[in-house]
This record gives sequence, C-alpha cells and structure tokens, in this order.
Amino acid sequence: MPSIKSTVDTRVVEVIALSGFDKALAYAVPPTCQGAVKVGSLVRIPLRRRSELGVVTRFGTEQIVPPGKLKMLFEVVQDYPVLPPDLMELYRWALRYYASTPEAVLETMIPAAIRKGMKAKTRLYLSAGKAPTADELAKLEKRAPKQSELLRFIRQQLKPLPRADILKRMKLSASACDALVSKGFIRETDTEEERIAYEDELGEVETVASDSRPTLTDEQAVAVDAITAAIDADEFSVRLLHGVTGSGKTEVYLNAIEKIVATGGGVIFLVPEVALAPQTVGRVRARLEARGVHTVVWHSHLSEGERYDAWKALASGEAHVVVGARSAVFAPVQNLRLMIVDEEHEPSYKQEESPRYHGRDVAVYRAHISKAVCVLGSATPSLESLYNVERGKYAVDRILNRVDNRQLPKIHLVDMRREGHTGKGPSPISQMLADKLIDRFEKKEQSILFLNRRGFSTSMMCPGCGYVASCDHCSIPKTYHRTDKKLRCHLCGDEEYAPVKCPECKSANIRMRGQGTQKIEDIVQKILPRAKIVRMDADSMSKKNLYRKILNDFRIGKIDILVGTQMIAKGLDFPNVTLVGLVDADRSLHVEDFRAAERTFQLIVQVSGRSGRGDRAGEVVIQTHTPHAPPVQFARRSDFDGFQLEELEQRREFNYPPFRHLIRHLFRGRNPDKVNFYIDQWTKLVEEKMGDRLEVRGPAPAPIEKIRDEYRFQLWYFAPSASRVIVELAALRESFKMDKEVIDLIDVDPMNLS
Ligand code: ADP
Ligand code: ZN
Ligand code: ZN
Repeated sequence: MPSIKSTVDTRVVEVIALSGFDKALAYAVPPTCQGAVKVGSLVRIPLRRRSELGVVTRFGTEQIVPPGKLKMLFEVVQDYPVLPPDLMELYRWALRYYASTPEAVLETMIPAAIRKGMKAKTRLYLSAGKAPTADELAKLEKRAPKQSELLRFIRQQLKPLPRADILKRMKLSASACDALVSKGFIRETDTEEERIAYEDELGEVETVASDSRPTLTDEQAVAVDAITAAIDADEFSVRLLHGVTGSGKTEVYLNAIEKIVATGGGVIFLVPEVALAPQTVGRVRARLEARGVHTVVWHSHLSEGERYDAWKALASGEAHVVVGARSAVFAPVQNLRLMIVDEEHEPSYKQEESPRYHGRDVAVYRAHISKAVCVLGSATPSLESLYNVERGKYAVDRILNRVDNRQLPKIHLVDMRREGHTGKGPSPISQMLADKLIDRFEKKEQSILFLNRRGFSTSMMCPGCGYVASCDHCSIPKTYHRTDKKLRCHLCGDEEYAPVKCPECKSANIRMRGQGTQKIEDIVQKILPRAKIVRMDADSMSKKNLYRKILNDFRIGKIDILVGTQMIAKGLDFPNVTLVGLVDADRSLHVEDFRAAERTFQLIVQVSGRSGRGDRAGEVVIQTHTPHAPPVQFARRSDFDGFQLEELEQRREFNYPPFRHLIRHLFRGRNPDKVNFYIDQWTKLVEEKMGDRLEVRGPAPAPIEKIRDEYRFQLWYFAPSASRVIVELAALRESFKMDKEVIDLIDVDPMNLS
C-alpha cells in the first residue's frame, strides 16, 4: 500500500487521544464501522500497544503515514458524537485559554459514564406472537401448565407489558417465558428506559411549581421583548439581566426558553448549584412539560445511569433543554440558541481544579461559537459583567421593582461595637435582632439567620497567652466540632481531641472563638425556648434528602427560624419570611482579596432579598463592626449604581480586574527552599521573555502558606488581554525545567486567591 495522503477519504480519520497526546493521529476505519464513525465520535484506538479512547476530529488526513503503519481503530463507543463541531471548537478554546491539558479538558467535557461506553438500560416487554393452533394449545396445557397460563394471559392483553413485572406477579420462572419466546408464541421487545433525576422529589416539586403563567409586569415584559428581539436577530449577543431580588427574573428566563423551544432550538440554563435549586428545576419542568417538552437535569450528583440518559437525550436531539450546574455548559445540546446563566456573580461557577474554567465565561464563549444569545442574570452582577456593559460589549435589561411592586425590605444596621456586653463577653445576637425575632415568632412569621461563611467556624484560643489551635500541616486554625469534641482541619482533615487546657501556658481558660452555626442556634434557642429552630450547615448540605426535608418543613411552617451560612441563601423563595438577620456582615471584608468589597455587597443584598417575598413587607437586620464601610452603606440603601461606580473606580485605580486579566501562578512543595529557588528562577525567565506584555507581581507566600505540609508561593500576572499571553506563558512553562518535587499550577481569572 502506498503512503496515505488523503483529505476526503472516509476510510481514514484523525483522532485526538483522551490520554493527552497533543497531536491528532491518523487511523483507518474498518469496514464494519463505516457509517457509524462521524466527526466528534468517541472511538477506541490502538495506541502505544494499549487500547485507548479518542475523539475523531476529521475525515481524511494530510499526515504522511508510512506504508503498513496505518493502524485501524477498534470500535465506535457511542452512537452519537461526543464532541460535535461546536463542542470541538469549545474544547480547543478552553484548552488554550485555561492553560490546561487535553486530558483534563476532555474528561470534563465528556462524562465518565459516556467514556465508559455505558448504554441505555433496556427493559423487555412481552406481547403475543404467532397464534397457536388448538392442538398446540392443548398440548401446552397438559405438559406445561405454567407456559399455557402465561400465554393465555399475554394473548388477552392489548399492549406489551414489562416482562419482569409479569413474571413476578404470576410467580413464573424465566424459563417458562423463554420457552414460549423460542416457540414464537410470545414476542419479546426491548424498550429503552429512562432514569429521570429528581423523580423521587416530584411530590415536592408539585407543591411549589405549577404551570400557571403570571401576567408579566411591565419591566419583565420589556426585558422579555429585548431578549426576544436579540434571539430573532440570530446572532451572538450577551445581555445582562440586572433585576433586584424578587423581581421575577426566572419568569423572564421561562418566557425566553418557551420562545426558543417553540422553534425547535436548544437551551442551556445554568444555576450555581442544582442540588440547591430544586425550585428552579421544578418551575422549568412544570412550564415546559405542559408543552410536552422534556427537560434534562445535569449536575454532579447524578448516578452514572442518570448521567447517560441525560446525555443521550440531548445528544440524540430528543431533548433540547438542560438545566444544570457549571458542567452543563458542556452538555451536548443541539442547535443551541439560548444560554442562561442565573446568579452569574456566584464564585461557584469557577471550577477549582483543572481545567480551572469559569462556567459563565465558557457560556459566553459557547454562545459566541453557536451564534446564540447569552443572558446573564443577577441582582448583584459581577464587576466583570458590569464593566462589559459599561464598555458596550453587553446589553443590559434592568428590573428595578419587585413583582407586584412589593417593597424591598427595610434594612437596619446594628453597630456591634456599641452592643451591650454581658458577663461572658459580647453576645453575637444584638438586642434589636433578638427583639425582632421574638416579635416574628409571636406573629407566627418566619425568620432566617445567616452567618458569613468566611468566619462561621469556631476555633480554640487561649486568652492568656494568645495560643490558637492550628493545624500542624496547614497554616490555618483548626475548627472545633461540638458533636464529637474534636478539632479538625478543613484543608487536610487532620483531627485531635480538643485540649482541656492551653498546651502553651497550661491555663484552663482556653476557649472557643468565633460563631459557629451551632452556637448561634443555642443562643437563639435561649431567647426563644419554644421556637422550632433548625440549623443548616455543611453536614446537612451534603445530605441531599436532609437538605430537602428541612426546606420542605420550613415551607410548610414546621420551622420558625432557619440558621445557616450564606450557602443556603441561593434562590430561597419563602413568602412567610419577614425577617432576615445577617449576624456578621463584615467578616468577608477583612480577607486578602481584591473582591472583598464586592463579595460583601453581594452578600448583604442577596441575603436581604430573602425577606419579604410574600404579601407582608420584610425587614433585615445587618450586624456589623464597620457600619461605615462603603459596601455596607451602599447595600443598605440598595444603591447598585453607587456601589458599581465607586468599586469600578477603585479597580481602575489599582488596575485590577475587570480592567486587566489576572493570572495566578502557584508553586508548592514540601521543601520551601526548593520551591523558592524554582519560583525565583522562573520569575527571572518570565520577566525577561514576557515582561513587556505582562506585569509580574511576586513571588510572595500565598495567603495560606502551607497546606498538607506543602509550602505555597505565588506569582500574579496582570495582562490587558489574556488569550495570547496565556498561550505564550504555557509554551514558556513547557520549556522550563523544574524539579519533580515542585508542583505549579496556572489559574486564569482566579476567584479563589487563598
Ligand atoms: P428573582 O429570581 O428575580 O429573585 P423570581 O423569579 O424567583 O425572582 O420571582 C419571585 C416570585 O414572584 C416567584 O414566586 C414568582 O413565581 C413570582 N412572580 C414572578 N413574576 C411574576 C408576575 N409577573 N406576577 C406575579 N408573580 C410573579
Ligand atoms: Zn495559653
Ligand atoms: Zn491541615
């Protein structure tokens, strides 16, 4: 055979291997796979004497393959392409922009169940086959009464019935059935069965969601019209839907989705964490199911079977709408025309492992590839998105009023520096908050107390000598867990029993510091001994059913006061909640992060938004030690524009994002001298080769200097535009020889700076 150089030959394909082989490799397509192989197909290929997975990037090849060297691919793993052309383009972009590896990106984009070659779960159905003669019937009756019983039953049925159910109900063995099948009297057929995520909770969903369609408010209608016009324009655009809490943004999304669905288009609807947003899923489902449209749910808690079914429903084009968390941005939705990112400011859209992508930013890029409309919604948009509006890249639709013109809640600030001190030190619950909690309880209204997640853990310290119980392996204080009286490290899990006296000065006075959700619960219970108070913390969050049960109990009024961190704030919509307390508003201000003010502003506005969503006006009590801090003040007045103006000014002055991209480069290793040596060498190299295109800051110890006995140092790079610089940076890094014991990672547009 001569060497192969073909550009159109469907008998040859190029494939990228999932194991991270940079170059596409050429393979021959065996005759048995002709027709099944498509661009984007997942295939099994021989590579380095092993069988590996790869994705077909094109038909034909320009590569010159020596005669006899062209290997044949083994098989096609899934019936539908795993990376159709738009996702292939997205793959190439994400790989470069996030300076990641092909392996990491492909594994993120193609779910494990799909890679494993999972197939649909089939269910066998029985129906009548050829009619038996009277003679045959009589013979059966005599020799195999069980078979005859089954046959008679089946022949009476109007439609096929599930085989397993029939055999179970009639207490028959499989062999009786098999015998009839082999004689042709009974026909067995497969039908694919779908495992629907959330099916177990449909009861709950029904109570909150109906397909009723409220009349849009004027502001909602304007937003829907603007989005509709953008959709009709049939080109890429991004719109920021900036609507106050309770302004009915979801209703706007639903109208846009219906419009797309009516034309057969595809929709991706991203929410920050699907497991926490059953209400949203329920609303989308209820609305679309009424139109006979199937909505797929996509998040990390799906079983492999559910994942496969969701994937296949989209890849086959049977379903067009997916509601999901971050990773749903890669779902194989066909004919994508609308991308929605709800709560676009949420840091949980950023993946904190490779590829370190930001779900919102990927959504925007994917919409760009598909010439789709991308709607970013929030009551407190990120500065990045606001800046994009300011410079005309995004359009904005604003909703300034709540539905039914319900008022935004009244916000009270309590200066905690002036709160009365009891014998045991300052109480974390101010007099005002306590009074209002009592008032609500007496009126049979509900309250929610939020703790700032940044500081909700309790550590141990000695007031005598200042000793703080810290992790030996990580440079952070350990958290005290009351249930088992242990001190535990959040980063490495190391644990020990809490000391009864100070290990340093032997004082017995060692005590807890900080306000855990447990402690707040105890204090409130003392204020209101008869109230039903329930705490939602990391433990209850991890148990999906417990979390749902708590929310349900709260909804039906079995709980008076809910205590939790801001994690539970997302999307909660309870009409009977008329009081929200934020126990420690400014804790998020005092962190080493240029987004501290933004986060604090968002926190106050978002938790306030949980109050007064029903007919009664809501109230909010914000406890703070820094009542005059600008984010606190702007949030109290609900002055979004004021905050945005001032914060953008600050960022501009320091030339921080969104004015330039930030890239974080972290180096870590057990030997701090070694880490230091290599980061120094690297810094010199970067400054020499790229110093004119990016500003280098550092090296400096990372805010958390040590995790799991590894020392951490970091560099910050600032660059006006990112994509080219990242590619160069990655190439330079490739050429840099580093010790095996030093590990580095590049995080583009980081959200977590610790
Ligand atoms: P947001 O997401 O902006 O905080 P939601 O979409 O959750 O607001 O809407 C808040 C509440 O108002 C929901 O219970 C929703 O069903 C209701 N709602 C939305 N739009 C309307 C409308 N036009 N008329 C009446 N009720 C509405
Ligand atoms: Zn001490
Ligand atoms: Zn630790």
